[in-house]
Amino acid sequence: AKPSKNILVTGGAGFIGSHVVRRFVTNYPGYHIYNLDALTYAGNLENLIDIEGNDNYTFLQGDITDEAFVNAIFKEHRFEGVIHLAAESHVDRSITDPLAFAKTNILGTMILLNAFKALWKDNWEGKRFYHISTDEVYGTLGETGLFKETTPYEPNSPYSASKASSDHFVRAYGETYDLPYVITNCSNNYGANQFPEKLIPLFIHNIIHNKPLPVYGNGNYTRDWLYVIDHAIAIDLVYHEGLDKETYNIGGFNEWKNIDLVKLLCKHMDEKLGREKGSSELLITYVKDRPGHDLRYAIDASKINKELGWSPTVTFEEGLSKTIDWYLANEGWLNNVTSGAYQQYYEKQYQ
Ligand code: NAD
Repeated sequence: AKPSKNILVTGGAGFIGSHVVRRFVTNYPGYHIYNLDALTYAGNLENLIDIEGNDNYTFLQGDITDEAFVNAIFKEHRFEGVIHLAAESHVDRSITDPLAFAKTNILGTMILLNAFKALWKDNWEGKRFYHISTDEVYGTLGETGLFKETTPYEPNSPYSASKASSDHFVRAYGETYDLPYVITNCSNNYGANQFPEKLIPLFIHNIIHNKPLPVYGNGNYTRDWLYVIDHAIAIDLVYHEGLDKETYNIGGFNEWKNIDLVKLLCKHMDEKLGREKGSSELLITYVKDRPGHDLRYAIDASKINKELGWSPTVTFEEGLSKTIDWYLANEGWLNNVTSGAYQQYYEKQYQ
C-alpha cells in the first residue's frame, strides 16, 4: 500500500525513539514515518540501519528549536500525527547545563506545537500530537505509594522541571486551542541502543572493561524499570487508541533499589562472561550523591492497563538478559559511542 498518512517522530535516532520508529515503519506500511533528529551525542543513525532503505521512512536532520526549519517541514509534509520524543534526557547533564534543557525540552516542544497548530488551524479531525514524558515530573515518593495520573507535579531536577513544563504547555494547547494531544509519563527504560551514560548500559560497559561501577549515595534509590520494547508497544497503543486530552502513566510494575539492581546485573554478567561468581560485584564503588536526588519513583500503570489493555510482555529477568546479550553482541556500538566527547564528559563526572 502507498503510504497515505505522514507521521513525524522526533528524536527517532535516540534510544526509545529508534524502537518507536522501527515499530511504526515495520507495522504500518500505510504510514510514512519522518524521523526528525538533530543527532546530538545521544542520537545515532546506526540504531536504525535495518530500516534505512524502507520506502515509508525518511530521516530529516534538524533541530526542533529551529523554528523556520520546523515550520517548513510541517508545510511540506503535512504531518497528521506527531510523536514527540526529542529531548535532552540525562539528569546529570541537566545539573551542569540547565539552560540547554529548557531550550530543547520546553522551547522545542512549543515550536512543534505551534507548527502543528498553524498547519491544521482548527481542522483537528484525525490529527494527534503525542507527547512522550517521564514519571520524574511527579517528584519523589517515600517508602510507599505510587504515582498516579492525578499526582501533583513536583519536579526536582532541571531535567524533570523542563519535562514538566513541556507537559503543561501540551495540555494548555489542548485547553486553549483544542489541539488534540495525548501524554504518557513513563518510568525508567532499559534495552538495546541506550546511550551508556544511563545506569544499565554504563554498568554493562564498565563490567566488560573491569572499570568501577559508580553507585550514588548509599544505593537505596529506587526506580521502576521497563523494557524499552514494552514502552514502544505502549506508545503504539496510546497513539492509536488513547483518548484525546488524556494522560497515561506507563511502568513496569518492577521496582528495584539501585544496589540490588546492580548486584543482579553483576550476577548475570559473571555468568555471561564466564567469570568467577562475585567478581563483578567487586567493581562497585559508592560515589557522592547527585544533588536533589529523588529517593523513589514508582508508577501506578493501572489506567493504561484497564482502559487500553496494556501490560509488559517480558519479565525483568528476560528483559535484562536480552539487553545484556545485545550489548555483548554489539560491543562495536558501545565502543563507538563511548569514544571521544562522551569519554571526556564521563571522566569529569566520575573521576
Ligand atoms: P535519548 O537521549 O536517547 O534520545 C533523544 C534524541 O533526541 C536523540 O536522538 C537526540 O539526538 C535527539 N535530540 C535532542 N535534542 C534535539 C533537538 N534539539 N532537536 C532534535 N532532536 C534532538 O533519549 P531517550 O531516553 O530515548 O528519551 C526519549 C524521550 O522519552 C525523552 O523525551 C525522554 O524525556 C522520554 N523518557 C525517557 C525515559 C528513559 O528512561 N530513557 C523514560 C521516560 C521518558
